[in-house]
Amino acid sequence: MAEKLSNREKLKIAPIPMAEQSPSARRGNIQEVPLGYTEAEALAEAQRCLICKNAPCVKGCPVSVDIPGFIELVAEGRFHEAAVRIKQTNCLPAVCGRVCPQEEQCQVVCMVAKSHKDTAQSVQVGKLERFVADWDREHHPTVEPLSVTKTGKRVAIVGAGPAGLTAAGDLIALGHDVTVFEALHRAGGVLVYGIPEFRLPKAIVDFEVDALRRQGVELKYNVAIGKSKSLEDLFAEGYDAVFVGTGAGLPMFKKIPGENLLGVYSANEYLTRANLMNAYGFPTESDTPILRGRNVVTFGGGNVAMDAARTALRLGAETSTILYRRSETEMPARIEEIHHAKEEGIDFRLLQDAIEILGSEDGWVTGCKCLRMELGEPDASGRRRPVPVAGSEFVIPADVVVVAIGNGPNPLVPRTTPQLQTNKWGNIVADPDTAKTTMRGVWAGGDIVLGAATVILAMGEGRKAAKSIHEYLTTGVW
Ligand SMILES: Cc1cc2nc3c(=O)[nH]c(=O)nc-3n(C[C@H](O)[C@H](O)[C@H](O)COP(=O)(O)OP(=O)(O)OC[C@H]3O[C@@H](n4cnc5c(N)ncnc54)[C@H](O)[C@@H]3O)c2cc1C
Ligand code: SF4
Repeated sequence: MAEKLSNREKLKIAPIPMAEQSPSARRGNIQEVPLGYTEAEALAEAQRCLICKNAPCVKGCPVSVDIPGFIELVAEGRFHEAAVRIKQTNCLPAVCGRVCPQEEQCQVVCMVAKSHKDTAQSVQVGKLERFVADWDREHHPTVEPLSVTKTGKRVAIVGAGPAGLTAAGDLIALGHDVTVFEALHRAGGVLVYGIPEFRLPKAIVDFEVDALRRQGVELKYNVAIGKSKSLEDLFAEGYDAVFVGTGAGLPMFKKIPGENLLGVYSANEYLTRANLMNAYGFPTESDTPILRGRNVVTFGGGNVAMDAARTALRLGAETSTILYRRSETEMPARIEEIHHAKEEGIDFRLLQDAIEILGSEDGWVTGCKCLRMELGEPDASGRRRPVPVAGSEFVIPADVVVVAIGNGPNPLVPRTTPQLQTNKWGNIVADPDTAKTTMRGVWAGGDIVLGAATVILAMGEGRKAAKSIHEYLTTGVW
């Protein structure tokens, strides 16, 4: 246990950095980039927290994790209790500690950052959360059996992403029988098919899924609801309630000439081949090929674009370029991902946009015709609108192009269920307080409702729906 310090002393301690693989080493492997805190580092970082009474960080967290509470336990060396405290409101801390945008949530409002007038000085909440979750997984790998009276009610969860898995975990703990139907052959949603191993090791997701399975959640893979069976079929099979958490996995394209050339991928396809289907190991360890371009250009400025560009490097690209039509200030990607991408040598072409993908006579990508942009007035998103600079045309050579400009809702369930109301983008309409849809007995949450959002928001939606489903199943009131 570390000695107690005054707030003045705490404010003098600089944030404890987390060791990382060097940029030159990690370009050549798919192992995780940050290596985690040691116990001593976690104790030292936890010392920096002022344990604020009205902790603004808790209000900044979408699932209200008791941040000062768990950090105080870390500072006292009570790591298991810290894990239990986090898990009261966040069932996937090892995931969230790695991928949550803490710099926009809990850390941006941290009182330590405010005292220094520098957000980089905030208590490293995400790194501590990751440490606690990893420590606990290593030291307490067994899952406590649930001692709960069974209700005899059956719930079907459609989609095994963070929203569906969170709902499943809450509902099984409340005594309901839970079956998860997943279209793919593995559970985790974007956590396994989208976010690369070097940011989120798949073993961590598998551990959490296995914990749910051991608590009694049944997982049925390779079942696409809306194709193999409908929501109506699920009710006919005896399910009393259904939660739809099918995510936003429908890739958007720029609708420019050349997008159907050989060598153009949606980021979803590119990342799914690399991550879920292990195309890194083709042909010896995997049956899934992927084009290993020499010059890869990725369109977009979000986490998905960073993941695709960094994956291209690990697949052996000589140049990997991000083409983004606004400036870095408007980039939606996490600051840490942009920083890591730059360190690894990704070429950031900002205020530039592709207007055509160029190809050879036999249909293969050869480059991108681009325009320079400048920023105009803010648009509906609040970000300054990119305006093309007349006569600024130029060409970037490329043999692979990855389009990572956004994803729409998976259409299968809404299209095959006319009772479900959708909005103009195709997202399922659900009550913001209960996650109830317009179809009796059906709830929806996560990206399928919010549009492409974040892991923690999807988990919050799953939790909200589970609470409402439990009320319905125990009272019968819709
Ligand atoms: C590449 C990438 C990187 C990202 N990086 C971050 C990040 O760093 N931090 C962050 O917070 N967020 C990030 N996100 C966003 C985040 O992953 C999503 O917001 C979150 O996963 C949404 O969870 P979900 O459960 O709603 O949907 P998903 O995770 O999309 O899961 C939906 C599941 O439903 C299944 N499914 C779909 N249709 C059917 C059907 N008809 N029948 C059965 N199953 C079906 C899918 O196969 C999938 O497994 C990233 C997204 C991507 C694509
Ligand atoms: S705001 Fe910062 S210092 Fe205060 S409790 Fe939260 S993490 Fe600790």
